[in-house]
Amino acid sequence: MDMFIDVDERQIRLERAKARALRKQGWWQNKIAKGLCHYCGRTFAPKDLTLDHIVPLIRGGLSTKGNCVPACKECNNRKKDLLPLEWEEYLRHLENK
Ligand SMILES: [Zn+2]
Repeated sequence: MDMFIDVDERQIRLERAKARALRKQGWWQNKIAKGLCHYCGRTFAPKDLTLDHIVPLIRGGLSTKGNCVPACKECNNRKKDLLPLEWEEYLRHLENK
């Protein structure tokens, strides 16, 4: 598929480590303290929000503040299970609610 960028394992490991460091920062703590899931817009307890990469690491996404958002477990699982197109469909469905 054209959408896939071949990212090497080393870069992914590096970005995962960066994401772990980001999670400890005040910037992230403030974000999850608000409790808002970036995708569905529902409110959750901070412990129920996970750090999600808008552009997944395996597709070349980086652990930058702009690419890291809080996501509830439901959205996170869905994103993992769906193809990029199906995921876009899901987001559109949420917007129309
Ligand atoms: Zn959500």
